[in-house]
Amino acid sequence: MASSGLTQLKYKGNIYNVGDCLMLRESNLKILVCKLLEIVQDGGIKDYEEWPSIRVQWYYHWSELDLVSLGIPKEDHKFLGDNELFFSDHAETVYIDSILGKCEVTTLQEYDNLENMQDENYFSRASIVTKENRLSPSFGEWETFCVCNKPMNPNLLTVGCDKCTEWFHPACEGLTDEQIPNLASFICSRCK
Ligand SMILES: [Zn+2]
Ligand SMILES: [Zn+2]
Repeated sequence: MASSGLTQLKYKGNIYNVGDCLMLRESNLKILVCKLLEIVQDGGIKDYEEWPSIRVQWYYHWSELDLVSLGIPKEDHKFLGDNELFFSDHAETVYIDSILGKCEVTTLQEYDNLENMQDENYFSRASIVTKENRLSPSFGEWETFCVCNKPMNPNLLTVGCDKCTEWFHPACEGLTDEQIPNLASFICSRCK
């Protein structure tokens, strides 16, 4: 399998560069996210054997993984975001006709700062070391917040303290989600 040295691929009118994050179709229902590592000169597809193929490195969605064995207790799965991925050390060569389009995989902070989160926006705060079946950094090393000291799920409602500017889960501060839009101000229990 010769490396083409190509860094750019045009497929169905879209240009893809080495280093881009791509969404691939595995089935009608399932989308896989990967990083484009290399454009491989052979490998084609049926009837188009002259086409290149692509070598990609997978991001795994947490729902595909045995999280408990990776050190995330069941009661903490709710702190994982809808579009949270773990970058893996697993690379594979795949056909280019599985490409659906480009996507963005950012840090949690960049994701949380997005004005509106689209389906093609993903974030990653850990990688998976597949041979050792562990996350890096490990779940216990992730940044935490709130009085519960849990990692941020950017899809959950949080309320900001007007004094310390830290973020809190409403329930951890004795509030319901419904109360939050009506609050004129909020001072957390630490600052009171
Ligand atoms: Zn909390
Ligand atoms: Zn505070």
